[in-house]
Amino acid sequence: MAIELETARQHLLDSVQCCDPERCKLVNCWDRILAEDIVADSDYPPFDRSLLDGYAVISMEVERATPKQPVVLEQIDYIPAGSIGRHAITQGQAVRIMTGAPIPAGASGIVRLEDTKCAGTQVAILAAVNPAKNISRRGDDFAQGEVLLRRGKRLNAGAMGLLAMFGQAEPLVYRRPRVGILSTGSEIIGIAQALAPGKIRNSNNFMLQAQVFEAGGEPILLGEIKDDTKLICDVLQAAPACDLYITTGGASVGDYDLMGQVFDRLGIKAMFNRVTMKPGMQVLAGIWGHSLLVGLSGNPAAASVSFEVLVQPVLRKIAGHDKLLRPMIKAVLKTDLRGTSTTRRFVWGRCNQGLSSWEATPLAYQRGGILKSLVSANALIVIAPGTPKLLAGSEVDVMLLRE
Ligand code: AMP
Ligand code: MG
Repeated sequence: MAIELETARQHLLDSVQCCDPERCKLVNCWDRILAEDIVADSDYPPFDRSLLDGYAVISMEVERATPKQPVVLEQIDYIPAGSIGRHAITQGQAVRIMTGAPIPAGASGIVRLEDTKCAGTQVAILAAVNPAKNISRRGDDFAQGEVLLRRGKRLNAGAMGLLAMFGQAEPLVYRRPRVGILSTGSEIIGIAQALAPGKIRNSNNFMLQAQVFEAGGEPILLGEIKDDTKLICDVLQAAPACDLYITTGGASVGDYDLMGQVFDRLGIKAMFNRVTMKPGMQVLAGIWGHSLLVGLSGNPAAASVSFEVLVQPVLRKIAGHDKLLRPMIKAVLKTDLRGTSTTRRFVWGRCNQGLSSWEATPLAYQRGGILKSLVSANALIVIAPGTPKLLAGSEVDVMLLRE
């Protein structure tokens, strides 16, 4: 019996928990998911510092400085980045200072080098300076005690920089979920094998490997196995321990669609065996011990859609991700979209931001088995059941795959 997509997804989400956290050296943390809130243990910047190369002055003293009527000051010190000043500034004095260096005591403004002329220990100031400008105050960027990053954050380049900035050498991140991927089908051969009559190479393993990586998992390729219930069970039982197993092929009702039998033989508690969506209607899922097993269609485009809408959010939950679902937007169709269906459809498309709205172009190759559209797709256009043919200009719901 087929169940609704949302129900199927909820069943899957309810059946999993997120992985245990582990400490990981920062150098290996990119793209990992944070398992703790990170709080600033100090202000940043940690001291008042100069934003440019110039002269630290008492701003009031140079209020009227112009190129024609410069204010001449005595240079009493020089502070490059990494050093600290030895003298406080008093009346009639200036300190030469470089970008990133701490502001000396007594100074209230930095005149940029271009507005000065120096001769020996004298410096002529040619312009006034606003005290608020050119100085970055201690704590301007981050105040001590501020939450910098939240648990569930996927660590991107900015987050990596922030962790380093606050000396987080080994942050707590979630273990990556291990995902075993097995392709079934007597026509499926390994990618290095020569083609033989009736055979095709295993493309699903590698397509799903990429999708698993993208969802934050650690894929484990289990290769391909022919349509034989016992052999499929043997491979799964001999496989390394995984949080999730994904199989492709044999998920339908044909003579060699054996996944139902595999479930029975392995004692997998089935949650559902069909989901009302197109493509990707054929999908079984069940609990196998401490793991989840999802059997997708062998058809690459169907398997990839099922993965996107069903497996990807579940994998994100196991990975500890704070966002489970892809962003949904409204977009305007750029070309007509033919075909109608009583089932909700997902159509691979390219989506981009137009002048006044998002625009979505359905990709030409929509037949299930064709990977071509997947190569350039960045979105899935979602068509509600019973929608008549849609003309260019119609508004559609779109699931953005690349955020
Ligand atoms: P099935 O789900 O087993 O009925 O397979 C549906 C279609 O997908 C058939 O044409 C299969 O040959 C094809 N197929 C199955 N598994 C794979 C795979 N691993 N890589 C590429 N195509 C596949
Ligand atoms: Mg098959």
